[in-house]
Formats: sequence, structure tokens, C-alpha cells
Amino acid sequence: MAKILDGKLISQKVKDEITNEVILYREKGLRQPCLAVVLVGDNEASKIYVRNKKRSCEQVGFVSLEYLLTEDAKQEELDFLIDTLNSDDTVDGILVQLPLPKHLDEQSVINRISPKKDVDAFHPENVGRIMLGNPLFLPCTPSGVMRLLKEYDIQISGKECVIVGRSNIVGKPMSLLLLGENGTVTICHSRTRDLGEVTRRADILVVAIGVAKKITGDMIKESAVVVDVGMNRSEGALCGDTDFISCESKASYITPVPGGVGPMTIAMLLQNTLTAYKIHMNI
Ligand code: NAP
Repeated sequence: MAKILDGKLISQKVKDEITNEVILYREKGLRQPCLAVVLVGDNEASKIYVRNKKRSCEQVGFVSLEYLLTEDAKQEELDFLIDTLNSDDTVDGILVQLPLPKHLDEQSVINRISPKKDVDAFHPENVGRIMLGNPLFLPCTPSGVMRLLKEYDIQISGKECVIVGRSNIVGKPMSLLLLGENGTVTICHSRTRDLGEVTRRADILVVAIGVAKKITGDMIKESAVVVDVGMNRSEGALCGDTDFISCESKASYITPVPGGVGPMTIAMLLQNTLTAYKIHMNI
């Protein structure tokens, strides 16, 4: 039976570290770190994500600013808000909750955020820095996965690492972080010919596809480490991209959904906001 990679537990550890650091800065008379979150429209899932981010900021002693724009907000309105937040010295991190309504140009919004406040690490400059191995910020979900692996002493160097999914926010940056730790990395996607044949090679398998319970026990190797990034609804319940029951009996470690990668993603967002704060305060 696999051991659980407990994202709830480890994310709390990260939050405690951040809280303690924030207390130290306050004792020195410095201002609190501040994250500004921008939400456009009425996407229910986005509203929940924004609420969770706000609650987490407050838990660690950050100032949390929330900007709500209506579904029909114009590009100029959003651009103006980002420019204002970019030039506000009391704002350390800016996060625009994606996806945006269809009429807005997502990439141009990402490009507009100051790279030094880009706590999601989506700006081309930050993506380039990650590619070059010289990051300012690490993308939250992949770095959350890395921290989980580290906390459970899972060695990456020389291991066969297979990632299923090649999105810009999870799969691709995940591959770079694993490569940076000397893993032998393979990336699968929807055109991969025999998915099971590749996933069965993995010592460490990271799945981020958004297809409920797609990876089943027969698709993993005995004692594999299975990290499930997926967040899906199936029959009303939250579930991942792996079939937990059949994978759990074969894997050595596995993340649950919920309670695995999700809380780590938020913890890493807080970590990035603290990093941005330290850059702005010259700490
Ligand atoms: P995405 O942008 O939709 O990308 C999905 C990727 O999976 C694509 O590369 C796609 O291949 C691949 N794919 C889809 N179906 C496949 C299949 N049957 N076999 C092999 N590959 C397949 O998704 P994402 O943003 O990376 O998110 C993936 C999942 O992670 C979602 O469930 C999302 O909700 C979740 N997520 C969770 C967190 C968290 O904090 N826990 C954070 C981000 C995302 P192609 O490129 O060929 O189309």
C-alpha cells in the first residue's frame, strides 16, 4: 500500500515557515507582504480559487487585495488596473485569475504584469529564466510537486520521470524542474501512441491532463511514485487524473485528490509572494 504524499500537512509546514518570517519583518517595523488578485467575471471555480488564495494570504499575515471586474470588462480597464498595481510600491505580487472571458487577450495581460510581481511565473521573462535555470519565481504547481517530493526524501537524480500533459502552467515547467534535478524526463500528451507503455517506465509519474481517473493501476510500475495534479468532478465528487484505488495498491507513494498537489500550489504562491516582497524591500 502506497504512502500518502500529504499536501495538506506539507503546505501547512510551508505556511508556518512563511508566517514566522513575516512576524520577524513586522517586528523590525517593516510593512506586510501584499498580494493583489484580479478576478474578471463570474466563473464559479475561479471564485473559489480566489477565495482560497485570499484566506491563505490572511493566514500567513499577508495583505490580500481583491479586484473584481465584471464579465464584460474591457481590455483597457484591465490594462489600467494592472498598470496601477505595477506602479504601487505596496503591492508585491499580482495574480490575474485565469481563464479570462473570451473577449480579453490573456497573453497580453500576462505580458503586462511586471516580471518582478509575476508570482504565477507566467510572464515570458520568467518562463525564459526558468528555461535557463535562473528563475526569479517558480511556477506554483510544479514547484509544489518538487517540494512534496523533497519533503518525502524522494530522489530524482537518474530516475525515469514521466509527465502526462504538456500545458504551459503544469506539464512543460514540471519537465524543466525535474530535468534540473537530473531526472530522465519524458513528456506524454494526447498524441502519445501507447500511453501505458510510457507511464509503466516511470519511477516518478506526474499526471496533469484533466481527465478523471485516466491512469489506472495497470499503467504504472510496481513501487512508482505517483503525483496526481488533476482536479476533476466525477459523479459530484472531486477526483484526480489517476484511479486512486488501483494505483494506491501498487505505488510506493501517491498524492490524494483533494489534499495533495492543490494545497501545495497555494503554499508556493505564498512563497513566491514572499520572494517578491523580499525583492521589493531589498531583503
Ligand atoms: P490543459 O492545459 O488542459 O492541458 C492538458 C494536457 O493534457 C494537454 O497537454 C493534453 O495534450 C494532455 N491530455 C489531455 N488528454 C489526454 C489524454 N487522454 N492522454 C494524454 N494526454 C492528454 O490542463 P492543465 O491546465 O495542465 O491542467 C491539468 C489538470 O490539472 C486539470 O485537471 C486541472 O484542473 C489540474 N490543475 C490542478 C492544479 C492544482 O493546483 N492541483 C493546478 C493546475 C491544474 P495535448 O497538448 O496534446 O492537447
